[in-house]
Amino acid sequence: MPDRIYNFSAGPATLPYEVLTQAAKDIVNFNDKGIGLIEMSHRSKDFVAVAEQTEADLRELMKIPANYKVLFLQGGASTQFAMIPMNLLGNGKSATYLNTGTWSKNAIKEAKLFGEIEVAYSSEDAKFNHVPKDGDYKVDPKSEYLYFVSNNTIYGTQFKNFPKSDKILIADMSSDILSREFDITPFGLVFAGAQKNMGPAGVTVVIIREDLLERTPANVPTMFRYKTHADKDSMFNTPPCFSIYVVGLVLKWLKKMGGVAAMEKLNQEKAAILYNAIDNSNFYRGHAQTDSRSLMNIPFNLPTPELEAKFIKEATAQGFDGLKGHRSIGGCRASIYNAFPKEGVEKLVAFMAEFEKNNG
Ligand SMILES: *Cc1c(COP(=O)(O)O)cnc(C)c1O
Repeated sequence: MPDRIYNFSAGPATLPYEVLTQAAKDIVNFNDKGIGLIEMSHRSKDFVAVAEQTEADLRELMKIPANYKVLFLQGGASTQFAMIPMNLLGNGKSATYLNTGTWSKNAIKEAKLFGEIEVAYSSEDAKFNHVPKDGDYKVDPKSEYLYFVSNNTIYGTQFKNFPKSDKILIADMSSDILSREFDITPFGLVFAGAQKNMGPAGVTVVIIREDLLERTPANVPTMFRYKTHADKDSMFNTPPCFSIYVVGLVLKWLKKMGGVAAMEKLNQEKAAILYNAIDNSNFYRGHAQTDSRSLMNIPFNLPTPELEAKFIKEATAQGFDGLKGHRSIGGCRASIYNAFPKEGVEKLVAFMAEFEKNNG
């Protein structure tokens, strides 16, 4: 791997090296066709095969049953904040949201344009340093659905156990999809922007239970209706071909690595290395409460903003990139998604110890 540094960026984020080199080759000449993947018709046999294989691999890796549709959409995860209530909240209906960070807040703001929104729980007063447990909130019986964010990318918190409810369960899994095993059957809809843990920016995966496709009010525009895309296998209009293709390569890589279960184990090991370093130091302080800690994003602080700036500067000089924390909480953040190598976490921890010795 020539010239590669350790990329701790929260998203777009690091991708497997073999995926990047394959994509680089295929951009110029795909399957020895003499044309590049991004020059081909989305209706060509070659591209349709790419799209079908990508969906099949996702279904296999996530054990998605046949009564769910898998959609590859544009507009980023943020477009789903509006599309979900547009499609699933009828006029005058209500929904329940759990507010655990910036991304749930943005989703709540959009949903309020379409219906009555009950925020049943918020950890905002605690700077979103934890997620709720079952029993910490009540879901309004009138609600159509319960919405939550499974991993809070900015604050480094993650639901260990998903909320249980007899309502349609909806989750934004943008920053932890494919990082751990879970049963999708209690869910009505799960979505994720690809650029954190699944591929490049440009495609958002939506997994929706088939019966929910029929609920969309008549005045919702064609492109914003899930059924439009479900009926045409995400090819109602030109899909984000390149992004879908790279997601496909990432899924192949994931299968080769042993699938989601093997990835989950590796993610636990990687996060433990960093959390142990934080816990065994009086110099570094984690943001998230222990029982809400994310395996994907690990925000932490140093004793002063000056030391944080110095830390990031020296880390960058040593080839650790993307460690600056989100502006909303400052400090540092290490994002260690599936494709981030364990050896990079070990090297960061060694750097942290050295920095503490010199500055503590
Ligand atoms: C990054 C992120 C988003 C926003 O994604 P876009 O594709 O930029 O709209 C939404 N939710 C979560 C959990 C994220 O991490």
